[in-house]
Amino acid sequence: MTDLLGNLDVLESCGGTVADLERQLESIPLAIAELEAKLEQFRDATMTARESLEQAEQERRSSEGQLQELESQREKFEGQTALVKTNHEYTALLSEIETATLRIAETEDKILTAMERIENETAALEAIEREERQGETELGKEIDARKREFTEAEASLELRRGEREVLVGRLPPDARSVYDRVLTRHADPVSRILRGCCGSCHFDVPFEIINRLMQGDLRVCPHCARILVESKD
Ligand SMILES: [Zn+2]
Repeated sequence: MTDLLGNLDVLESCGGTVADLERQLESIPLAIAELEAKLEQFRDATMTARESLEQAEQERRSSEGQLQELESQREKFEGQTALVKTNHEYTALLSEIETATLRIAETEDKILTAMERIENETAALEAIEREERQGETELGKEIDARKREFTEAEASLELRRGEREVLVGRLPPDARSVYDRVLTRHADPVSRILRGCCGSCHFDVPFEIINRLMQGDLRVCPHCARILVESKD
């Protein structure tokens, strides 16, 4: 194997690693965003449950206020029964008292329903808060792990890019200009031939090209234009 092809051979694996790391650096922030969105869902669920509980408490308070009002109203009517002078007035007053009693019973029912709802909503909120705490712990760990992966990938990428620069520096000028040109289109400018196909774009590589390659010539894939290197076996 000539120096040129030897260097390209090493560049193939190095370029592959650089491309992998670049892909990783692109995908990790997306994964983190997804995890953060899940965290947000937990927070939203807790907030909705809390709001629902507050609403039930508000309902109970307002019904209790109504109940007090109705009870004092009824007391007032009851006090007036001793003062009425006509039968007609008395009947009217009794009807008022009856209506107030009916509304009191309705309001008491409402309070009971609200209290039941408060009890259920409190239990639901506690369960949701537990889930949120658990989710925060688990997702927090995952997010931290992804962030560490990102930092590591960044460091590795810098290292690999440095290595690649050294390898590219060793290429003859014409090979180097081809390499630089392909690099503007593909993060992995060198592709290994696998079973007669370009390992990157998977199209067939004509036999003449493989032949020239085996003679030590620099050849590019006719489909994706990556620099080709021979298969390892
Ligand atoms: Zn190709």
